[in-house]
Amino acid sequence: MVRIELLDGTTDPKFGTALRMSFAEIAKYHPMEVSVAPGSTDYVGYNQVKNAEKGAFNSRRNQLHATRFLCNMIENDNGLYGINTMILTEQDIYDDGLNWAFGGVKSDAAGGKHLILSVARLNNLEALTHTGIHELGHIYGAAGDLRRSNTESNLGPHCTNFCVMEQKLDVQLMLEQSRRLSSKKDKFCYQCINDIMNYRGI
Ligand SMILES: [Zn+2]
Ligand SMILES: [Zn+2]
Repeated sequence: MVRIELLDGTTDPKFGTALRMSFAEIAKYHPMEVSVAPGSTDYVGYNQVKNAEKGAFNSRRNQLHATRFLCNMIENDNGLYGINTMILTEQDIYDDGLNWAFGGVKSDAAGGKHLILSVARLNNLEALTHTGIHELGHIYGAAGDLRRSNTESNLGPHCTNFCVMEQKLDVQLMLEQSRRLSSKKDKFCYQCINDIMNYRGI
C-alpha cells in the first residue's frame, strides 16, 4: 500500500476533483491511500503550500522555482520527510534550465517522493487529470526500469510507447496526447503497467 499525502494549494476545488481520476487510474494496478479526499477543503495543507511558496517565488519572473519550493515543503515543519506527497499549486513553475513546467518531482534522502503539479497552464481539466496520472506514474516507478529498452531519460525516466508516461514538453503536444489517450481504457502501456504493479517502494 502506497500512501500519498495530498496538499492542495489552490482555492478552487475543481482542480483537486480532477485528480480523482488520476488516482483511480493508478489504483487499478497498485493499492493506494490518499490522505484527504481530492477536491475537499484542507486548510492545513493549503497553508503549508502557501508558506513554502513564499521563499521560492521569483517575483521578477512571476513564477515559482519548483525545486526550491519542494525543498521548503520538506524542510519546513510539515511532517513530509520520508513520505510521498502530491502538491497542487496555482503558481506557474520553472526550474534551473527550464523556462516552465507542468510539474516536477524531488526525492528526499529517506525515500519520500514529492510531486508538484501546477494548474497555471492546465485550465483544461482533462489535461490536468492526464498530467496527474503522469506525475503519479513517476512515484510508482513507471518507465523507470533500466532493463527496458523503450525509455528515454530526460528530466526523469520517460516512456517512448503510446503511453501517458511519454514526455511532452509543449502544451499543444500534451493536449493532443491527452485527447488521443482519452478514448483508450488504460492510459499506461503494458510495460508501464508492469512497472507500477511491481513497484516495491514506499
Ligand atoms: Zn515526467
Ligand atoms: Zn509506458
